[in-house]
Amino acid sequence: MSKKLYRLGLLFSVLAFPMLPLLAQNPQPAPASKPHVIVLGVNGAEWDILKPLLVRGEMPNLARVIQHGVSGKLRTVSAPNCPKVYSIFATSAPSEENGITGFLVAGVVASSSMLKLPPFWSRLSNSGVTVGMANVPATFPVKPVNGYMISGMLTRGTNCEDGLLCSPKLSEVHGGDAVYPSTLRSEIELKVGDLPIDCARMPQERELLGHEPAVVHDWLEQVSQIREQQMKLFDYLLTNHPTDFTFFAQSCEDRVGHWLYPIQTYNVGYNPKVHTLAVDAFPNQYRALDKVIGMILQHVDENTTLFIISDHGIKPLRDIESPFAHRDHAGTTPIIAKHDFEDGDDVPGVFVAMGPGIRKGVHVMGLPMSVFDIAPTILHIYDIPATAQMKGRVLSEIFEASSPTTEAAANR
Ligand SMILES: [Zn+2]
Repeated sequence: MSKKLYRLGLLFSVLAFPMLPLLAQNPQPAPASKPHVIVLGVNGAEWDILKPLLVRGEMPNLARVIQHGVSGKLRTVSAPNCPKVYSIFATSAPSEENGITGFLVAGVVASSSMLKLPPFWSRLSNSGVTVGMANVPATFPVKPVNGYMISGMLTRGTNCEDGLLCSPKLSEVHGGDAVYPSTLRSEIELKVGDLPIDCARMPQERELLGHEPAVVHDWLEQVSQIREQQMKLFDYLLTNHPTDFTFFAQSCEDRVGHWLYPIQTYNVGYNPKVHTLAVDAFPNQYRALDKVIGMILQHVDENTTLFIISDHGIKPLRDIESPFAHRDHAGTTPIIAKHDFEDGDDVPGVFVAMGPGIRKGVHVMGLPMSVFDIAPTILHIYDIPATAQMKGRVLSEIFEASSPTTEAAANR
């Protein structure tokens, strides 16, 4: 090797070195022991379905979190959908201001580069908080954080060119990075597997026609495999790459609810060929969610704050609506339940929080808590003030009167 080349090589390794070991450096707990927060975002968690399961004792882990924390409805926005609301979670600013108005923005599939305002996790990252995120919608292509990020819904790849409600595997992603730092990608492929980024695409109407039992069965099988892998991924990340702040999201609940909601014969769109086949399919998603919560609880100690939130609920179509006029998220599957009701208050999301300084066994009535309030509340836990762009407020009513968090706020 020539001297010049050798020097170039040295220079490269010096330049590249600080970038590469980000992950290797970060797993150690932060020196000043920053607050530990885990957020689990559930796409379309619906109290109407959750409550009977809780009453029957079929969601023991969620019941435990509710019992030891604060729960209630989470007010969403008009015509809510996943990318729209997740971008509000991220920025606490309305869609017109944050730039992500839906699945499509001016005819183009929403992507992280369309986000016009910095997400709250950048603010955490810049303040020295380590951040780990996986499968959060509209985060593709991933941007660097002080930790790691694996993209979620709207990731593009093979057989999923538009990224719309389909699910490329890690190895199939193109058009941008799905994993930051890139070294984490091979590690996950090796240790967890070549997993799908998002929940499976819903079957098309023509696939379903005449093959209902087989299509419903196969699709649900695919969904449960995706769930298994996703749970394995979350567990792997929490175990091997713990971060101060962690944000995971999953989408299968919503996808199943859209076309297999347990509707009655009198509901709009009832089709005995489909809706008698798997009446438990949608509640089963929440039974499976409870296992994910159980796994996460193993990583939750008395110093961890856990939030379980949803961007919106999901409800059956109304008499005035035709399933033939309603397709899933710009797709082709006729649906029997939806969330993009004009009045967002018809489909509130779910809010549950448990942790140090959070009130216990409190149920918040009405809709005072909103999707805009998530970012300011999380920043508040880290004692970082919200920015002027943020329209939400700190959910002070969820904190005990004399918690360390409320004292920090009072002293500011
Ligand atoms: Zn949906």
